[in-house]
Amino acid sequence: MVLGKLLIGIKMNRIDIATLIGQQFSLLKIKEAWRNENNGIMVKCLCDCGQQWTGTLNAIKTLKTQSCGCRWDIVRERGGLG
Ligand SMILES: [Zn+2]
Repeated sequence: MVLGKLLIGIKMNRIDIATLIGQQFSLLKIKEAWRNENNGIMVKCLCDCGQQWTGTLNAIKTLKTQSCGCRWDIVRERGGLG
């Protein structure tokens, strides 16, 4: 698992962040994107309900997060949120 995450991280380095802007993942549409200190990509999204959500690109790409929190019913995967 850890190795897999590292490999994903390396791949993400090659993503042009600008191309992420405007992409839609479930209810979240990316408005801003930037790299964090761990070489992950952070995104600020606008949810379908009008609220903003900030988190990792990985979370929305893997559909672990599909809304700002207003629609937990559509989240299929459990776990990860303490
Ligand atoms: Zn929402």
